Amino acid sequence: MYGRHPSAQLIEIENRCFLVDCGEAVQMQLMKFQVNFHKINHIFISHLHGDHYLGLVGLIFTMHLQRRTNDLHLYSHRGLDEIITTQFRYSRSWPNFKIVFHRLEKDVKEIIFEDNLITVETIPLLHKIRCSGFLFREKPKQRRIDKSKLPPNLTVRQLGGLKVGEDVKDESGTVIYKNEDLTVQPKQSRSYAYCSDTAYHEGIVGQIKNIDLLYHEATFTKQDETRARETLHSTAQHAATIAQKADVKKLLIGHFSARYKDLAPLLEEAQTIFSNTLLAQEGESYAIHEN
Ligand SMILES: [Zn+2]
Repeated sequence: MYGRHPSAQLIEIENRCFLVDCGEAVQMQLMKFQVNFHKINHIFISHLHGDHYLGLVGLIFTMHLQRRTNDLHLYSHRGLDEIITTQFRYSRSWPNFKIVFHRLEKDVKEIIFEDNLITVETIPLLHKIRCSGFLFREKPKQRRIDKSKLPPNLTVRQLGGLKVGEDVKDESGTVIYKNEDLTVQPKQSRSYAYCSDTAYHEGIVGQIKNIDLLYHEATFTKQDETRARETLHSTAQHAATIAQKADVKKLLIGHFSARYKDLAPLLEEAQTIFSNTLLAQEGESYAIHEN
């Protein structure tokens, strides 16, 4: 409605792509924004309301047509494996790559993905059916070597030691170069939380404390708070209150009801409480933080 599609976000961290939710038309949008499908190996589905996953079967089928070979990991609450396999069973066509289903636990936070750079953790949300948000955190980064100050002939081990904060020592253990003279501070590790769909739920505040960017649904304005309560969704005021309590650096609101053509009132409502708020707009990219 009004050029807005159902939920789907592409999270890019150090050249890795993760898809969070997979609403209808996701593959058309990915094509439009020239995203290479093969880079997506992990898809996180918050819950099984159609506007959050109905694009998945189409996307999987296109991946199959494009001769994908990499495994595809799907993370969801119970039921997604049944939905997907039923679809393929009746069409008598199975993708030529492996799909690995990971079932999310109800009402608990757990680390569901980890590699050498990041972790992804679930955020238990409050909705009509089992629903989880996702918290992406970069691990602490290594110190950066200042090449202009680097003496020649350091060994690979000494260079590796510099990146983790060690001084350069000679064979007898005497310090010959101090770490701070050859390296600079590591880049800041970034954090991002995706919270949709949920009623106002202060239970998440501790988990998302001080993160860089919070995406929080704001389906309704405060005038429609009764409707928000009935459907277990949030208002813009709710989203901003959570952002304020969690002391996040930036808030992105989205998942707006089709009843609002103009989104300015939602933004204003949130900004009165939390000024560093942005609207999640179709096709836009948002930096987690600027550096
Ligand atoms: Zn929902």
